[in-house]
Amino acid sequence: MAGRILHLYAPNLQEQYTSVMAEHHHHSSHREDMLSVEAALERILGYVSPLGAVEQPLLEALGQTLAEDVTSPLDLPPMDNSAMDGFAVRFADTIGATTTNPVELPVIGYIAAGAMADRDLQPSSAIRIMTGAPIPPGADAVVPFEDTDEVQRKASGTSLERIAIMQEVSSGTNLRPAGEDLRKGDTVLHSGATLRSAEIGVLASVGRDRARVLRRPIVAVLSTGDELLLPGDAPGGGKIYDSNSFGVAAAIQRYGGIPKILGIARDNLEDTTHKLEEGLSADLLITSAGVSKGDYDFVKDVLMQRGEIAFWSVRMRPARPLAFGTLNAPDGRHVPHIGLPGNPVSALVAFEQFCRPAILKMLGRTNFVKPTVQAVLRDAIPNFDGRRVYARVIVTKEDGGYYASLTGPQGSNILTSMSRANGLAICPEDLPELHAGATAEVQMLDWPEDPAL
Ligand code: AMP
Ligand code: MG
Repeated sequence: MAGRILHLYAPNLQEQYTSVMAEHHHHSSHREDMLSVEAALERILGYVSPLGAVEQPLLEALGQTLAEDVTSPLDLPPMDNSAMDGFAVRFADTIGATTTNPVELPVIGYIAAGAMADRDLQPSSAIRIMTGAPIPPGADAVVPFEDTDEVQRKASGTSLERIAIMQEVSSGTNLRPAGEDLRKGDTVLHSGATLRSAEIGVLASVGRDRARVLRRPIVAVLSTGDELLLPGDAPGGGKIYDSNSFGVAAAIQRYGGIPKILGIARDNLEDTTHKLEEGLSADLLITSAGVSKGDYDFVKDVLMQRGEIAFWSVRMRPARPLAFGTLNAPDGRHVPHIGLPGNPVSALVAFEQFCRPAILKMLGRTNFVKPTVQAVLRDAIPNFDGRRVYARVIVTKEDGGYYASLTGPQGSNILTSMSRANGLAICPEDLPELHAGATAEVQMLDWPEDPAL
């Protein structure tokens, strides 16, 4: 299997990775050459572009980027209609009406929402009308029920064929004019808009059931390691469950990608090659582990044979080791590959810094900055080797200010520390410690006020 793939797809592998490997040797041998988070991200983003457009059912397009200018085929609302349940009248007939001196009018018809008036409003009369129902010709205002004796009439069984108006209205009161929201031919939304729930609603309001949007990236996820078990398997034998595939796939989904879980590649060339091959149809490939200096790290061997790969030391903790490259697909594409560290916290923290922006860029977003708040630290964040520290914290809002407490031990294997966190407090590279009481910038993973995943 490996031989076949090498034969098919890696005829000129030598020149393909020579340059990046030179970069690798250069960067990994000197600490001062560690890449900053920004530099690593910039390089990664240089390899991904917004994807092509597809037409999709409206609701499936939530979070996607509009790839067309949408114009309205109609006025919205399509006709003058009532803003209240009440009585359509001529305002002139209500002049002087008060509680003590009501104007009584005959009720000559009824218009429900969705129906059309079957008669015009005659002078000195009223037509009962519901919210959203078309204003009948001849009417120029609506008196709401609460400004009439409607309730008393109903309670006492008095005839509803007449109504007493107890408050005067002026021209246009409680009337919503045609085209108030949109005019026929107006641009409703521009290409490039992110479709939130409001935009989905707006598209539906002009009759659209589909939208042309940039398609979602398919992101292949591969875990590697002989020690990994699938959730559901029986535990034991020195093995651990593969949490990275699931945590990473969930994060892909959260940020709008379509995860394609490739499973677990065992620590041998055949299996790793075979599993990676299944990721070649994806828009982005994310692997975890298998790129460190361990004896059984085959991911890098395969990637070196089949594409370009660079190993970076990124000036951050956790997640210093990061691999990035491209993998040659049979259709000629160079599929970008991000190799996350194996430790689960490192994998998810690096995902937020590098994979999330890559996915967002493919989705057509132009802002990849994770929202941050300034929070007062309740615990110190030590920093002993000049890297940018991302500490897992619980952020709370108290008396209008934000406070951040560490989630406990910060080992990069302790995944529950990530689960308890709603933010990553940043200790800058050049500070040996952020003291308790200091203010830190905290990247919000999610917001206490908004538990949306
Ligand atoms: P490695 O990069 O292969 O040396 O892995 C570093 C650490 O991460 C080891 O303790 C691995 O057992 C652990 N690890 C690697 N992959 C996974 C995974 N998919 N799920 C959970 N832990 C993992
Ligand atoms: Mg391993």
